[in-house]
Amino acid sequence: MKKTYDILIIGSGIGGLVSALILAKEGLKVCVLEKNNQYGGNLQTFSRDKLIFDTGVHYLGGLSKGQNLHQFFSYLEIMDNLELQKMDENGYDKITFGEDEIEYPHAQGYENFVEQLSKYFPEEKENLANYCEEIQRVCNHFPRYNVIGKDSYNEEILHLNTKRFIESITSNKKLQSVLLGSNFLYAGDSENIPFYVHALTVNSYIQSAYKCVKGGSQISKLLIRKLREYGADVHKHSEVDEFIFNENNVLSSVKTKSEKEYFAKQFISNIEIRSLTKIIGEEKLKNLF
Ligand SMILES: Cc1cc2nc3c(=O)[nH]c(=O)nc-3n(C[C@H](O)[C@H](O)[C@H](O)COP(=O)(O)OP(=O)(O)OC[C@H]3O[C@@H](n4cnc5c(N)ncnc54)[C@H](O)[C@@H]3O)c2cc1C
Repeated sequence: MKKTYDILIIGSGIGGLVSALILAKEGLKVCVLEKNNQYGGNLQTFSRDKLIFDTGVHYLGGLSKGQNLHQFFSYLEIMDNLELQKMDENGYDKITFGEDEIEYPHAQGYENFVEQLSKYFPEEKENLANYCEEIQRVCNHFPRYNVIGKDSYNEEILHLNTKRFIESITSNKKLQSVLLGSNFLYAGDSENIPFYVHALTVNSYIQSAYKCVKGGSQISKLLIRKLREYGADVHKHSEVDEFIFNENNVLSSVKTKSEKEYFAKQFISNIEIRSLTKIIGEEKLKNLF
């Protein structure tokens, strides 16, 4: 008899694994399919000369007790088994510029953030305090980020531009660059990225910044262990390359490259949107997409 899952999730990045575990904890029968040999997507690691290297995630914010990632990871039952190392309180990130020998620190804790940068920009202390205040104000408008369950978003905050905002905080070009120095975390595009993306990202690290001692892959390993404890199936070497639709044009199963078919009542795609569009087939999608 064919097995039908409640939910089938394509892709075992952190998004796929976390969705899977939340649903499995709610009692649903879940299956995750991953195309690669290693689970975790950007959580994958590799080693050279016994040294572990991260491919993507290499530091995490908001992991101290009471902070948001700590709450999420505690709910997912992986917090106690993570091997973490707190990064330098006075400079988890250091921003440098060509010939300038100074390493400008991004410190943990808002007061400390202002204090450490004021050493290099003493006349900018008040502006730095305003920057920190504004970051926290914007983050407080995101209920899910703060795990408080409300649903409303403030439109005005969504449209604020990062570069314009930093320019409004200070006219000091060097300080502007220092504050934008970790913008590779959101693809290095301060011109087009809304300020809330900057705020949500740096806020988490200013709250607290940690390295995974054995690399980020420990997160995917722990999530998969939990998933199996909750009865979920997780398969690697399973690249989904075909969607099968029933007579009502509803997705009923997926096929992997090795022609294995998986049936489910509902599907979650946690893969890159263009790959998904290809698998679905353009004729199935409205022009809008
Ligand atoms: C270089 C780099 C550094 C980063 N550093 C940090 C950091 O230090 N801290 C931090 O918090 N964030 C960091 N990020 C961001 C973070 O890694 C990502 O936001 C997050 O890991 C994305 O997870 P995801 O689940 O959305 O997708 P992904 O991790 O991309 O997972 C998608 C998965 O789907 C699989 N897949 C794709 N197609 C198929 C298919 N057809 N069938 C089956 N499986 C499929 C892929 O193999 C992959 O495993 C970094 C990102 C990058 C790229």
